[in-house]
Amino acid sequence: MKSNECTSDYLEEVRQKCIDCSKCTKNCPFLTKYDINLKDFTMRGDLAFSCFLCKKCESVCPVDLKGAKISMILRKENPKFKSVKNQKENYIFKNNSDKKTDDLLYLGCNFPAFYPKTTKYLIDLFEKEGFDFSIDCCNLPSDFTGYDNDYLDRFEKQLSEKNVKRVVCVCPNCFHKFYKNLSVEVITIFKWLDERNLIQDIDEEVNVFFPCSDRYNHVIFKDIKKHITGYNDKYKSTNCCGAGGIASKSEKEISAQMKNSIENETMYTYCATCSSKFIEKNDVHHFASKMVGIDEKCDPSFFKNALKGKFRGRKK
Ligand code: SF4
Ligand code: SF4
Repeated sequence: MKSNECTSDYLEEVRQKCIDCSKCTKNCPFLTKYDINLKDFTMRGDLAFSCFLCKKCESVCPVDLKGAKISMILRKENPKFKSVKNQKENYIFKNNSDKKTDDLLYLGCNFPAFYPKTTKYLIDLFEKEGFDFSIDCCNLPSDFTGYDNDYLDRFEKQLSEKNVKRVVCVCPNCFHKFYKNLSVEVITIFKWLDERNLIQDIDEEVNVFFPCSDRYNHVIFKDIKKHITGYNDKYKSTNCCGAGGIASKSEKEISAQMKNSIENETMYTYCATCSSKFIEKNDVHHFASKMVGIDEKCDPSFFKNALKGKFRGRKK
């Protein structure tokens, strides 16, 4: 299995390479709060879970040092929040079958709970072509606890038993966890819909809130971009929706500030978790829902919807 290599040698490398320019501190509310830079962070194991893993520091550091990588090394040295690992490892609302399928619609855990109508629509589309779906957690939140988990191995076994050729991801976090780490091809829901000419283009310029996992690489966004007239990267100063890296558990105030930093905006995103954070104060649209002609409003009744997902009937 491939995985992100995180060794404590990296902490030493940061200490050697950092030129103390303080750009990381100026661009990160967590580093600002504790008045530290990434070099100092390497010596603050007590703050491992205060980092939102948003990668803003990486984007501004002149010598390419990475706060998220530091945080993950420190987390692995002292794992925490076992309850998160336990919850996600055997996700109680999961819905998988043993049906054979070439393409597997992998909905993740949050999208089905926040966008139930769009979920139903996508499941029906896949079923029409004889393809199966999966509602499950990719275990990224479990990775963030610093404890080891074996989800990728278990998922590989499941994919092999179901003869899956391609995993089609709806959630950006699942996509970025899987696309370099599975033995089968991993594509976005946008690519899958595009292959069938099922995308309704958006004929206007839109304001986009980029989810952390895709913000600085646009691997998913390149599939979206060709179906919109134009876009504004308007929310650069908000590093994260406030849910990143399970840091909201340690840094409630910073998380709330991030969530409340955008208001009265009409915005587009492609992460259900980001939508759920900003929906209270903004008019939020999810590209996947909009582009299939539903344009569902994010429904914050997570548990009610998740339960419906769990018990949804399916043809084996
Ligand atoms: S990853 Fe984000 S939260 Fe963590 S140190 Fe870098 S900028 Fe700050
Ligand atoms: S931006 Fe990079 S070089 Fe500058 S203080 Fe932060 S870690 Fe050091």
